[in-house]
Amino acid sequence: MKIPFFALACGAQEHEYVKQVLDSGWLTTASRAKEFEDRFAEFVGGKYALAVNSCTAALHLALDAIGVQENERVFVPTMTFTATAEVVRYLRADPVFLDVDYGTRNITPQILLEGIKNNPDVKTLMLVHFGGHAADLTEGEGGGILAICERHGIQIVHDAAHAFPARQGTQMIGSFPGVTCFSFYANKTITTGEGGMLVTDDESVYRRAKLMRLHGIDRDIWDRFTSEKPSWEYDVVAPGFKYNLPDLAAAVGLAQLEKAADFRQQRQRCADLYMDRLSGLPMIDLPERTVPTADHAWHLFPIVLNEQATLTRAELGDELASAGIGFSVHYKPLHRMTYYRERYQLAAEAFPNAERIWAGTISLPIYPSLSSEAVEHVCSQLHKILTKSGSRPSIAA
Ligand SMILES: *Cc1c(COP(=O)(O)O)cnc(C)c1O
Repeated sequence: MKIPFFALACGAQEHEYVKQVLDSGWLTTASRAKEFEDRFAEFVGGKYALAVNSCTAALHLALDAIGVQENERVFVPTMTFTATAEVVRYLRADPVFLDVDYGTRNITPQILLEGIKNNPDVKTLMLVHFGGHAADLTEGEGGGILAICERHGIQIVHDAAHAFPARQGTQMIGSFPGVTCFSFYANKTITTGEGGMLVTDDESVYRRAKLMRLHGIDRDIWDRFTSEKPSWEYDVVAPGFKYNLPDLAAAVGLAQLEKAADFRQQRQRCADLYMDRLSGLPMIDLPERTVPTADHAWHLFPIVLNEQATLTRAELGDELASAGIGFSVHYKPLHRMTYYRERYQLAAEAFPNAERIWAGTISLPIYPSLSSEAVEHVCSQLHKILTKSGSRPSIAA
């Protein structure tokens, strides 16, 4: 049995919608992208949505739109993909890296409060909802992350690249205060190949991001070809970017969006099964949850080889590979990456939880078409691997 780490869920609807766009003769941003924005905003309960060509673009536009200035400092979790931090550097601002919770890999209210105490000048938080598990926005110490940020005048940019669809309490990620950025990269929970979405309730943020999305031109291309004014007339009011999502990609997104709730349900099926079959296994820690399983986007299912482990992550990887099971690693933390480590003089000791995660983490396959039999197979292989080599010394030292 061969089980890849990821498999695309793409069917007749995607083909049909793409064909319609091809046949229409208009491939770039127009009515399909607009429709995708409207439907996405409705889905997550946000007011304004802007379709862009990556989540990285959305994060960049978000920081620009909320007015982050050169030399400002911005909180970023160390346990994330580099995009979350690199966009801070796009604006010549500087990331201030925070450790994460060991169980959820999220920034917690407690970690944030500690960060604020040590860095009272920071007024922006990049909040990653790791693996699809919403960070503690409305719960926990200090009344939760939203209340803390409000008290300290901190604006939130949600990196929701993993968190669609996800919720906390009665609200979906995308409807909370701040600017929320989603990813439709090829292996995310829904995809457009490359793509992203910026969602906000703030009209001025929306207007600025919309302007900067397309060259700083004061009306978008579609308007130019549909409004009363002559199509050659436009003005440039800022040095904007080229971040629009083409209709060809939006067509794929519209088809994927129709299935997003079902996709999530299927990933939950896998996650619930993993939780059930792997609980009690020695040597590994399973992901912790502070939200119901139905509120989790389940983009990732990461486990951690803990201090009792008698094999290394590399050895576990080799065993899985020879059993035909695909896996990945999320993530080598940013404080270990040469650029950030050297530029900001970062020491591993400042990030004990991220270090513990990094030492042993491995992400198991989780996607809609992964059968329950396949999950059972992964679990039985893990049982075999993790119970056979008990005599070797621990690597934890
Ligand atoms: C994938 C990812 C991004 C970047 O998304 P793109 O659409 O590829 O730009 C940003 N942050 C996190 C946490 C991601 O996993």
